Amino acid sequence: MAYDDENIFAKILRGELPCHKVYEDDLTLAFMDIMPRADGHTLVIPKAKAVNMLDVEPDDLCDLMRTVRRLAPVVKEAMEADGILIQQFNEAAAGQMVFHIHFHILPRWEDQKLRPHRAEMEDADVLAANAEKIRAKLEEMG
Ligand code: AMP
Repeated sequence: MAYDDENIFAKILRGELPCHKVYEDDLTLAFMDIMPRADGHTLVIPKAKAVNMLDVEPDDLCDLMRTVRRLAPVVKEAMEADGILIQQFNEAAAGQMVFHIHFHILPRWEDQKLRPHRAEMEDADVLAANAEKIRAKLEEMG
């Protein structure tokens, strides 16, 4: 599949659509998933263009993983989670809905099931509050 510049995450990267940003550097961006499967569900994307794991440049993937590695413990601490699930889907048949490569950082708690993929939109206030918690924890943990 060819990369489509009109995908939602490309629009977020260009500032054409808003997001609840938690982190940005020259190579990557992290923001709240708008239909979270768990409170604090965070997405990490590269600024480089790639559809998914099947076409991403290895160096771009390494840059992306550096941010995933940095944010995973921050999201866990900020959300007071018991664990963190990292997920990534490739092609529609595997559950991919947005065709700009991204990793999901999903807080997990011992006693809570994940909500379904593609479920409900979260209130903007809740997303903003969770983004703020994660940004504050990132400031603290570095
Ligand atoms: P997938 O491609 O299956 O990994 O899923 C894409 C994810 O992007 C889903 O979890 C959606 O809830 C999420 N999503 C879709 N549109 C937006 C958006 N505008 N802002 C934040 N997250 C989004």
